[in-house]
Amino acid sequence: MTENQTAIAYLIAGVFFIMALRGLSSPVTARRGNFLAIAGMVIAIATTLASPHVVSYEWIAAGVVIGGAIGTFIALRIQMTALPQLVAAFHSLVGLAAVFVAAAAFYAPEAYGIGQAGDIHVESLIEMGLGTAIGAITFTGSIIAFGKLQGLITSNPLVFPGQHLLNALLLALLIAAIGYFCFDQSPMIFWIIVGLSLAIGILVIVPIGGADMPVVISMLNSYSGWAACGIGFTLSNNMLIITGALVGSSGAILSYIMCKGMNRSFFSVILGGFGGETAGPAAGPGGDRSAKSGSAEDAAFILKNAGSVIIVPGYGFAVAQAQHALREMADMLKEQGVKVRYAIHPVAGRMPGHMNVLLAEAKVPYDEVFELEDINRDFASTDVAFVIGANDVVNPAAKTDTTSPIYGMPVLDAENAGTVLFCKRSLASGYAGVDNPLFYRDNTMMLFGDAKKMCEDVVKALG
Ligand code: NDP
Repeated sequence: MTENQTAIAYLIAGVFFIMALRGLSSPVTARRGNFLAIAGMVIAIATTLASPHVVSYEWIAAGVVIGGAIGTFIALRIQMTALPQLVAAFHSLVGLAAVFVAAAAFYAPEAYGIGQAGDIHVESLIEMGLGTAIGAITFTGSIIAFGKLQGLITSNPLVFPGQHLLNALLLALLIAAIGYFCFDQSPMIFWIIVGLSLAIGILVIVPIGGADMPVVISMLNSYSGWAACGIGFTLSNNMLIITGALVGSSGAILSYIMCKGMNRSFFSVILGGFGGETAGPAAGPGGDRSAKSGSAEDAAFILKNAGSVIIVPGYGFAVAQAQHALREMADMLKEQGVKVRYAIHPVAGRMPGHMNVLLAEAKVPYDEVFELEDINRDFASTDVAFVIGANDVVNPAAKTDTTSPIYGMPVLDAENAGTVLFCKRSLASGYAGVDNPLFYRDNTMMLFGDAKKMCEDVVKALG
């Protein structure tokens, strides 16, 4: 393949990726978006393989076989609820790859056409320094995010005195080291950049609390894109530059949307722990509060006598894989003349779009599924809010308790419905670790049990 043909093929793949992102912006077109992305990736890989610069197909084949086998094994075994930590783990690999490519280019610059050892072009040194820093920050940051999401590290913010000062100092040192690297190409400076960035990656993510993790994931997604973009510059590969920039900027936009959805300032999240120092988990269910509980039969009776029902799914709904049973329950209610709609909070579940994917899997009609801002006002005129496996996203403390870690996050106003049916296994808190006063409201009935089992029992009682 000539240089021109390669450039044109990469451009076509880039257009496919842009159309894929457009498709992925709505559940209705998401499937098409995925196919476009796959097509773009096939073109990109085939073009790269056909490049005259390929020196060894054996090494590439070994990488594809080993990497492909590991990827297939993980993809077949992974639970949908564990996807966020898998994504975090994969982001860490992108970051590590960026560091390795930069190290390879640093030690063998002739192979990359960027100068001689000890005499690398200044512009390449800048790219290399930035790419290494972003890659290393992404690497350790993603590992910490993985640990928090997997429950290996506490999801509470880890804060200590002088933390922000230390972060600022390390950042200043990193910038100085990258600047110095352009004048002194010694391996020691290169590895100092790596070391400082690895430390910053850890320190930036540890103070971020559980409730802010969605933003962290999309932010790391963005970082991994910029790291790939950096690799693209080092390897002079336009495709990597385009794809990295697309991932980097779409991740940044997603982070912004998530911050808006949680009413958080983007900077207070990425600077870690800013504004969160005074917040702690709200008090547990103390005092004389008690929650009313009911059975599946009680729920079936209330539901079939309702004129309208809004279903609020959350993380527990995904854990229980209750989507098909819920769909069956909703169909039976609709047959009995009940108006059924679904309300989706932007951070419900454990990844962006988590609930939409599950509802789409159960073939719930898209026109019954509404985003928070489109349905929140309707709770007040709705007979029943059926909260299934959700918790934080309906916690009214986010509106009233200024000491709550989720204070300020827009929540679904389920408490305004005539009756709230709250299906979960216990009175335990959700991901953010805060108690939910909605359990103890007069108009709330707890339906204790597994979400799928409860839906199946309600279906039996309705039948
Ligand atoms: P929550 O984590 O607040 O609550 C989920 C509830 O589900 C739990 O309280 C649990 O209660 C219940 N549950 C667990 N298993 C089952 C089961 N088998 N059957 C029935 N219930 C079950 O979930 P939400 O969706 O309301 O909120 C999402 C939270 O996750 C937010 O704090 C968000 O910030 C955070 N987050 C979101 C991410 C995203 O991208 N969407 C990423 C990372 C974090 P019990 O144990 O009593 O059953």
